[in-house]
Amino acid sequence: MNKRWRKKWKLRALRMWCTSLLVVGTWNLIDLSFLNMNQVSYASALPAVPLQQSHATSLQLNERQPFSLSQAVATANKHNKQNEAGKTGKSSQTGSKATSSHQQKIVYLTFDDGPSKHTKDVLDILENEKVPATFYVLGQQVERNPDLVERIVSDGHALGNHTYDHNYKELYSDFSHFWSQVQQTGQAIENITGSEPLLVRAPGGTYANFDQQYFDLLARAGYVVFDWNVDSADSRRRGVPASEIIAAVKKGVLLPHTVVLMHDSGGHGETVKALPAIIKYYKDKGYTFAKMTPTMKPVQFRVANTAGWGRTPVSAAWIAEHVKTKPQAKQLVDKQTKEKKETKETKETKESKESKPTKVVQPTGVAQLVIQTDQGDIRFAPNQFKTVNEQTYVPLRQLIEQLGGQVGLDSETNLLQIEWNEQTYVLDVTGNTIEQQQPTEGALRQALDIQAESEVVWVSLRQMLRVLKVELNTYELTTVTP
Ligand SMILES: [Zn+2]
Repeated sequence: MNKRWRKKWKLRALRMWCTSLLVVGTWNLIDLSFLNMNQVSYASALPAVPLQQSHATSLQLNERQPFSLSQAVATANKHNKQNEAGKTGKSSQTGSKATSSHQQKIVYLTFDDGPSKHTKDVLDILENEKVPATFYVLGQQVERNPDLVERIVSDGHALGNHTYDHNYKELYSDFSHFWSQVQQTGQAIENITGSEPLLVRAPGGTYANFDQQYFDLLARAGYVVFDWNVDSADSRRRGVPASEIIAAVKKGVLLPHTVVLMHDSGGHGETVKALPAIIKYYKDKGYTFAKMTPTMKPVQFRVANTAGWGRTPVSAAWIAEHVKTKPQAKQLVDKQTKEKKETKETKETKESKESKPTKVVQPTGVAQLVIQTDQGDIRFAPNQFKTVNEQTYVPLRQLIEQLGGQVGLDSETNLLQIEWNEQTYVLDVTGNTIEQQQPTEGALRQALDIQAESEVVWVSLRQMLRVLKVELNTYELTTVTP
């Protein structure tokens, strides 16, 4: 960076910092009731950072902050590289560094359709790398390879139920068929290991295969359904080469909880070859490896149109006769029912309070905004949030990158493109809209309040989280005492 540039950045940074003081100065005008929160806490007792240090932090951060459309890609890449290098420094005040120090990044390697002749090799690699994984097995393969099922468990990995024969037409023409295959497979596993796993993965994934009844009835029985958020693409066609599998994984999103789909059925020798490089990739990114458990928050695709299967829901009589809560899931189901009830009560309490005037809390000193979402904590430094017309705006890039996504510029259309959670969104800054690209149903366009200012693209926090389907749990204002 040459001298002139540096001067320009510093001036801009100073301006931003002054703006942040203005924001704080008008704090009593800020209405934070926009957030649909279950709990609000003001943590003024949190470790206080002296203002001067905070000031220095702002300056340093702002060197990277200006968001030029033409620089979008380069800046995002630079930022990623810095994170990869594990650079420490004052940037830990905000950004993904702060997120990662608060929560561990975990990757769940999953292998579907086995066990087969390749499973032994997969297990050997996992053993060598000291890495746990989860195997979604087919009942018919379990019966053919009981020794491998035994080794999966004795090696400390998790087992999941992937139905008996993987036949889509059978499984998705009627829930009763899906159910009976899950029971058959559960029994086959139990015969070997002594217990039936509660983890279930739908062949082909739940998208456009499961309707709400499939989800509801499996949950009622205590099964936990898992999709994925990184597809290794090893089943895209026959014999996908290892290099292509590795590249597909590297193209995937890096979420705090990353679930990688792979296959260990016959014909997937290339996945075995790719596995060491995939493990190395996540180790280098600072991920820890874990096996899935029924108590973790499931990764599930949203419910999509399943009309193509032409099925009718199963009857109440059929449900009463067949769908009973599994004894080993009793505690889990009770807990979920209780949580659902509590969420409902919180919502009702909130609604009853809504007509009352909003209480405005005036923290002293400089506040930073910390929101807790189902994707982890997200932090905004004092100059990274502002309120306009009772709406809170945050810089788009700060939000997306902390979620583990990327913002780039489509050079053809000159529109901003967001990649997050396997979804692509296109932002039209002048039109105040955001468009979600959907593979089967066409683009979904929604209104989004956007403000482009000083080359920073600001978006309405509440609206953006809604578009991304990110659930907001709590927020905190941590104060920085002068
Ligand atoms: Zn499968």
